[in-house]
Amino acid sequence: MRTIFAATALLEDGWAKDVLVGIDDDGRVASVAKDVKAAPGSMHVETLLPAACNLHSHTFQRAMAGLTERRGPSERDSFWTWREVMYRFLDLLSPEDIEAVAAFAFMEMQEAGFAAVAEFHYLHNRPGGGAYDDPGELSVRIAAAQASTGIGLTLLPVYYAQGGVDGRPLAGGQLRFGNRLDGFAAEMERAGEIVKGLSPDTGLGVAPHSLRAVGPADLEALTGMLPDAPFHMHIAEQEGEVEEALAELGARPVEWLLANMPVDKRWCLIHCTHMEPRETEALARSGAVAGLCPVTEANLGDGIFDGARFLASGGSIGVGSDSNIRITLNEELRQFEYSQRLRDHARVVLAGAGQSAGRVLYGKALAGGAQALGRQSGRIAPGLWADLVALQRGEGLMLAKQPDLPLDNWIFCGDGKVSDLWSAGRHRVAEGRHVRREEIARRYHECLTAIAAKL
Ligand code: ZN
Repeated sequence: MRTIFAATALLEDGWAKDVLVGIDDDGRVASVAKDVKAAPGSMHVETLLPAACNLHSHTFQRAMAGLTERRGPSERDSFWTWREVMYRFLDLLSPEDIEAVAAFAFMEMQEAGFAAVAEFHYLHNRPGGGAYDDPGELSVRIAAAQASTGIGLTLLPVYYAQGGVDGRPLAGGQLRFGNRLDGFAAEMERAGEIVKGLSPDTGLGVAPHSLRAVGPADLEALTGMLPDAPFHMHIAEQEGEVEEALAELGARPVEWLLANMPVDKRWCLIHCTHMEPRETEALARSGAVAGLCPVTEANLGDGIFDGARFLASGGSIGVGSDSNIRITLNEELRQFEYSQRLRDHARVVLAGAGQSAGRVLYGKALAGGAQALGRQSGRIAPGLWADLVALQRGEGLMLAKQPDLPLDNWIFCGDGKVSDLWSAGRHRVAEGRHVRREEIARRYHECLTAIAAKL
């Protein structure tokens, strides 16, 4: 058994000193003891935390980060003009590129403090829509990226059947996403085989893309596919989507979903940006996780999630890096809190009286992320996966008498770097760098050079 000795650690009942955590050969926490001495051979860290899950990512978009920051020719740059660039870009990517980009993004996630990720995987076909010989060709590439980085993975093969809420056919870049129910069942079966070949903490879920891309009958069929598995979909990200839903379904997206689908704890609804107060409160009561991607939502100009009302109503949240324009855990949480402050002209909006914003937000992201991935993690406790992160030395030491200061410093003041990270016991970040950074970065840069020649 390996052991980590932490001067300070965030345990289930709060901060503790002189903590010894044992990790068994399967990658689970075997033991936790506080106020003890280090065991011989223990690895020493200063501040140890449970590591969070990244609940929403499209890794391929990492390679186009920055490309969309030049204003296009249309009168108003928007999510929809961004989407056009994204569609053109994805047609340039080969399976090898998709693997290299995914590995680089997964590595950056681990260096940012994420032990695991839910990959919302919607590239299934060749450019133009033709099928690969193996329906799991691109899932195999995501799996290979998991194996090379060691990140915890919940694979979410995405169902994408139509071009809008009105049922219009797929066009252009969307043809790489397209599937139909019977083909999707085979794809899910193949994904199940692929996942079985990975480390035992790997999970599988179902992901209807959105109400834009999936009609009501298909959505209902998908809810029965893996009845206990995570079920993720985008919803209410854009005002245009709300208008389409009102016109075609006679209700706002979240309102329609809550009235017509069995939304519960296994659901993770990504964005939920545009809700009326009654939708926000009803969604909180459903037990579903609101999957927030504050950095991407700011980048795309989506709008502001009503976090104050949602948390006050008992809602669960987690965070995701989504477009991967920037891969950072601390900034996702910071941006979430700041969006509320800017809207409300107030400070420390998402914590209760006397609470630390960093502590509240990190605690909620841990619980909501683990729930969304269906992953036994989010706490340092025997039997759970050893998803652990150590902050860099010195973070919060100056005023250490205020107990949550390391988290507040890390989230609000620092650059978000971590010193060490374990994904289900796999020690993959040491002294701030992924142990395979050089080779993964080299492959990524070769791939970008080749893509740039095609742009
Ligand atoms: Zn997304």
